[in-house]
Amino acid sequence: MRVLYIASEIYPLAKTGGLADVAASLPHAIASYDSDIDIRLLMPAYSGVKDMVTHMGSPIKLGCLLGDFEAELIPCKHPNGLDMYLLDCPAAYERGKGLLYLDEHKNDWADNDLRFALLSRVGAMIAISGGMMGFAPDIIHCNDWQTGLTPAFLHQWAGRTPPCIFTIHNLQFHGNFPAWNRHRLGIAGEYFSVNGLEFHGQISFLKAGIWFSDYLATVSPTYADEITTEEYGAGLAGLISGSKDRLKGILNGISHDEWNAKTDKALVQNYDDDNLALKKHNKRALLSEFNLEESMNKPLIGIVSRLTEQKGIDYFCAAIPNMIEAGVNIIVLGEGDKALETQLCFLQSKFPKNLGLKIGYAEDASHRIIAGCDFLAVPSRFEPCGLTQMYAMRYGTLPIVRHTGGLADTVKDFSLKKEGNGIVFAYPSSDDVYNAVKRATELYRDRRKFFDIRKRAMTEDFSWNASAKSWIELYNHMNNENSVN
Ligand code: ADP
Repeated sequence: MRVLYIASEIYPLAKTGGLADVAASLPHAIASYDSDIDIRLLMPAYSGVKDMVTHMGSPIKLGCLLGDFEAELIPCKHPNGLDMYLLDCPAAYERGKGLLYLDEHKNDWADNDLRFALLSRVGAMIAISGGMMGFAPDIIHCNDWQTGLTPAFLHQWAGRTPPCIFTIHNLQFHGNFPAWNRHRLGIAGEYFSVNGLEFHGQISFLKAGIWFSDYLATVSPTYADEITTEEYGAGLAGLISGSKDRLKGILNGISHDEWNAKTDKALVQNYDDDNLALKKHNKRALLSEFNLEESMNKPLIGIVSRLTEQKGIDYFCAAIPNMIEAGVNIIVLGEGDKALETQLCFLQSKFPKNLGLKIGYAEDASHRIIAGCDFLAVPSRFEPCGLTQMYAMRYGTLPIVRHTGGLADTVKDFSLKKEGNGIVFAYPSSDDVYNAVKRATELYRDRRKFFDIRKRAMTEDFSWNASAKSWIELYNHMNNENSVN
């Protein structure tokens, strides 16, 4: 079976969030699990990406497909060994390192609709005529709004195409664009309707993906249920609950190679569950790196996150003074909303010895924080899956999470005697997260219990094995269904 996996970011070539991690490790896990599956990746060649892959043969010229965008496909290998096509179109994608969707002032690129219509369109072209370059996919796997027009193009161009599955990594990001530009995207006029990709007078790439795909997936079972409700449905709950029979919730896994405390090169001291006592050297180094008081006996709580309301950073910040008063130290690594960044800088200036802060994106520091802290807070208002809580558990750092989405599927409160592996709270409020931190502090003082729960968390299996199996079953089902119809 041949699968084309289309994503707008794939680690380590380009990353702004969890999608990149998943787009690298899930296809790799699928290919490792079943060698009969030829899964190939498609991603734009952003600045610098062409130098990070191994080129395999001559580029395939595509000409001018949208506007002035002259494009070609570069066959290559991802650093993890998977076959890949880079969509090379410097005018669309080479805009400076890391500037995937936003410019340096954090504004959306004005032509994001054209840039990702191009990605979607090329995905659909490979789906239909990939055979000419020796790769005729049986399944098309799209991810998030940036690829949402692929199923719409397939619907428009061909009566019978390979079946398409669309994974929603975050329903909040709609990819909505003004309707006046729609003729430039190459989508037929009649698709701009309620029964299509129109959403409150705009073009919605996300809705296109949901509407025109054969199957939908989310990255955890609980999130799959949640998005059928008004509270979590981001205006699309009706459409999604009407599509329940083609919606699957498959929990993400994590890469045990990238996230392995025993071999992680970013750490001051490697360790594993048999040598958990060594973990403290990472804590000591982290306190010193962030110029915090050298208080090994106080619990250290980390946050590695986009700084947004979705992630609950606003109400967490409001509780920081009380948390520090209660005797914890905190380290935050993240970037995002300007107001939250400013609030954190202010708090840091008030508590320089108790609150460490790094505004920005830093892969190595994220590993050091996850290894060096005692707890990692993930106070999300909603969380499609969440990866950091799983990274934390694997590193013996207990997650403090709100009970929602994938956090609910992976973290069980330590009051549940046999399965507890973290601290869970119910409501997204400063009081609730403060109480959760208080409970974490009490647990921290009970050294035996703390040790046992950390050991349990470290030995949980969050590898991709179970998910890869579920994905392969779904691909097979789609393929069989397609050959019968
Ligand atoms: P989301 O995709 O919603 O941002 P996830 O938890 O699914 O959240 O994935 C976030 C990923 O991005 C994780 O790999 C996390 O370690 C990483 N990450 C988030 N913020 C930063 C940062 N400032 N620096 C380094 N890595 C970060």
